Amino acid sequence: MFEQENLVLETKNITKEYHSAHHGILTACDNVSLEFFKGQTLGVVGESGCGKSTFMRILVGLETPTQGEALYHGGNILNLKGEAKRLNCRNIQMVFQDPTGSFNPKMKVRDIISEPLLNFGLITKGEVEAVAREYLKMVELPGDFLNRYPHNMSGGERQRVGIARALTLEPKIIICDEATSALDVSVQKNIIELITKIQREKNIAMGFICHDIALITQVSHEVAVMYLGNIVEILSGNNFKKNALHPYTKALIDSVFHLNMDFSQEIKSLKGEVPNGLDMVYGCPFVNRCESCLEICHQKKPTLQTVNGRHKVACHLFNGENNNGN
Ligand code: ADP
Ligand code: MG
Repeated sequence: MFEQENLVLETKNITKEYHSAHHGILTACDNVSLEFFKGQTLGVVGESGCGKSTFMRILVGLETPTQGEALYHGGNILNLKGEAKRLNCRNIQMVFQDPTGSFNPKMKVRDIISEPLLNFGLITKGEVEAVAREYLKMVELPGDFLNRYPHNMSGGERQRVGIARALTLEPKIIICDEATSALDVSVQKNIIELITKIQREKNIAMGFICHDIALITQVSHEVAVMYLGNIVEILSGNNFKKNALHPYTKALIDSVFHLNMDFSQEIKSLKGEVPNGLDMVYGCPFVNRCESCLEICHQKKPTLQTVNGRHKVACHLFNGENNNGN
């Protein structure tokens, strides 16, 4: 599953700082190092504003990192320019939360789906209809959708078209950024089933961004928990709740509202507000909201350390750094 030969993309210390004249430096991503494997889904979860989209946008070339590398089969793709960068776009495709924004409202579905292929000169105009029909079938939409416009479709249907478009270039990695968050629960389920079916058939690596921890653990083989630009824990989607160690991961789990929960119990959720990333100077990024913090947490930032197998956590409670004084 996570064998080295199946490693498609590996990020190394990706950092993104936004500079603002009034507010100083905001670190949206702080040394993010993650791995994407063939046929596996890497979920990235965390509250709004923690840097999930920024990280993924860097991978698809929509943002430039301040520092760091993304090695695609060993070669850094973040310093590519011109034609090399354009060609690399084929390998990593993104499905957005609301595809309406990325679709030209005047284009019919046939053209939306086939546009990337025409741009890369991979098909001729005469082939558009047949190819668009094939991809519609793949995303389980009827052939007569070819002539529809984006505004004549439901949110779920539009998202299927977005997926079809992302698939045309036969990417090795697909990034879904809150791709189902705007949909009704039942539609969300269907879209996720579709994405995972296609992923299995095509053995694609997937990056799945979501703020819903229950959903992300169902979909992901591995989950990276992000807090203020930092990856604080990486663990398997299976037994996520049982294995979670980081106080932030646990707080996220506790904040999930269960349908069959005991309503007589108080819902324990996170205390305090998310600090804004500008305030962090040193120490653990979670220190202001953590109920278990130690003296060292105010002084030294914990780094990701292996707990067991691929499970890693960045927390002084488990790192043992507080004992050995490193
Ligand atoms: P998420 O996807 O987890 O909600 P984002 O990656 O969108 O988070 O944002 C991370 C942080 O970076 C936020 O504080 C956001 O305000 C900031 N940010 C994102 N894009 C920009 C930008 N273009 N300029 C300045 N700050 C930005
Ligand atoms: Mg986002």
